Amino acid sequence: MNMEDYAIIYNPASAGGKSKKDFDYAVKCLNDLKVKYKLFESEYMGHMIELAHKLAKDGYSVIGAGGDGTCNEVFNGAITSNTGALCGFIPMGSGNDIPGAIGICPDIKRACEIIAEGHSSKFDIGLATTDDGVKRYFLGIGSQGFDAEVTRRANEGKKGPKNYAMTTVKTIFRWKIRDVKITMDNDIYEGRANCVAVGNGPSYGSGLYICSKARMNDGLFHIAVVDMGKLQLLREFKSMYSATVYPNSSVHDFESHKVKIEMKNPEDEIYYCQVDGEVLGKIPVNYENIKDGYEFIRPKIDEKAEAFKNEYGRYFYDPCE
Ligand SMILES: [Mg+2]
Repeated sequence: MNMEDYAIIYNPASAGGKSKKDFDYAVKCLNDLKVKYKLFESEYMGHMIELAHKLAKDGYSVIGAGGDGTCNEVFNGAITSNTGALCGFIPMGSGNDIPGAIGICPDIKRACEIIAEGHSSKFDIGLATTDDGVKRYFLGIGSQGFDAEVTRRANEGKKGPKNYAMTTVKTIFRWKIRDVKITMDNDIYEGRANCVAVGNGPSYGSGLYICSKARMNDGLFHIAVVDMGKLQLLREFKSMYSATVYPNSSVHDFESHKVKIEMKNPEDEIYYCQVDGEVLGKIPVNYENIKDGYEFIRPKIDEKAEAFKNEYGRYFYDPCE
């Protein structure tokens, strides 16, 4: 048996190395709370999956300390270990939508307290499988089209929100909307789509609530198909941040347990897909929602939803009147 209960997995390169101060603060908080832990630094891309996989097998509960990319890697390592090891997060990124999906606010001290409190429960998870054979679990949103293209390009440049905003603008100028075919449990969509967001969780891009009706415990995805002109696409970003995108004649939404997405016209340039900020490759892609798929360390109540309500006077999933 280990002397330590928790393996804290940390990427020193995350947020361009700026997270060192945040990480030192997290270590102080964990020490103050007398949490027994051991630290593990990732050294290369994908290393956090390997670390979490091995440490889960060694009997640790695994905690990802970093941005959404770190959270996704640590979670994928834990689930593929087949140990059922508890998984938790300390949000330190620029987005933090993944911890938010299970009710954890971007507050390092509070996240450490949640670990010390030791409460946990199961949440639905998504599984994406491309026709090229790439397979990845995710907690937040899987998307294809414009946003996946931005993510792909932004990941090639410097990290950080400034680069992301620049990349968004650059991408939109050259963007050409294409037709997709989306096959769901009870619906088929064939037509134009800038992007198709498959939401296990409600938000991405630091609180952009494109799948605001997503519930983490119903075994279903909330799917948003965006068909907008370029200018409207830029304008609507604001409504997505306040979760007031629906009803919207340019966003078609559906619910489904399984989703298959492919290009409608084979001669079109093929859309990329990404889950939790990780670009998987090109579509076709199949999504499956796994009900109560994994157990996470979480607060007793959804503190993220409460924080949203404090800011906007309503929950993000209430229809906006
Ligand atoms: Mg759901």
